[in-house]
Amino acid sequence: MKIKFLINLLLLMPVKSLILRKPIRAYHGGLELGIATLSTGILMDNTIAKSSLIKLKENSNELYNDGMKKVINNLILLGPIYYFGVDNFIISDHISEINLIETFNIVIIHSFGYYTAHRLMHRSDLFRKYHNFHHKFNETLTPSIGNAVSGSEFTFAYMTPFMIGAYLVDPNINSFNLGIMIVAFMNLVIHTQELSDVNYNKLFVSPKTHLNHHQGKNKKSTYSAPTFNLEYIYSELKIIFSKLYDR
Ligand SMILES: [Zn+2]
Ligand SMILES: [Zn+2]
Repeated sequence: MKIKFLINLLLLMPVKSLILRKPIRAYHGGLELGIATLSTGILMDNTIAKSSLIKLKENSNELYNDGMKKVINNLILLGPIYYFGVDNFIISDHISEINLIETFNIVIIHSFGYYTAHRLMHRSDLFRKYHNFHHKFNETLTPSIGNAVSGSEFTFAYMTPFMIGAYLVDPNINSFNLGIMIVAFMNLVIHTQELSDVNYNKLFVSPKTHLNHHQGKNKKSTYSAPTFNLEYIYSELKIIFSKLYDR
């Protein structure tokens, strides 16, 4: 699978761009976002989440190393490949300034896409195997562990919602990048156990809620992550509508 991607990336796309006389966009946009997420995660692991990092390594250094290998593979290899595809084939505007409405739309579509994929991976025997790796970290979490997922999960639950968002919203590249940065940063935040006691707005998935998801302690399943808490928003809307309907 990866070989096919690489052949397409390295050989077919440049040839196609030569024939069509269309400039091929630089590959480093996705790599920069990947490096920024990786280094922010490592920085957070070693500062705010230092005690969890020590605990995680003490519990199983092997699991921690396996996790970090997945993190690097996802952020430095897979992510940039998908980004390259979106940048070249979906995004048409590479000039305009950030448009916050476009960014908001990217984040909300990602939120729905992730929720759907995550729920499916918990409820369907067919998809569960892709999510098992991430749930090996149920006891102790650190920010970087947010990206310690199988390559299939990273593609299906993390990248596909961005691709669908880019296709539906047709954002400019700067709005799209900001959307990715928000989602990537919040993913690090919700995996920061040290932030469990922070008072969070209920509209968003808090580190406490996501830790409870990992440990199976949520009263109601919360598959939403890492931004909007769709289960909470849905239950509130249901109450509002039922009140309106009762009148
Ligand atoms: Zn899960
Ligand atoms: Zn998680």
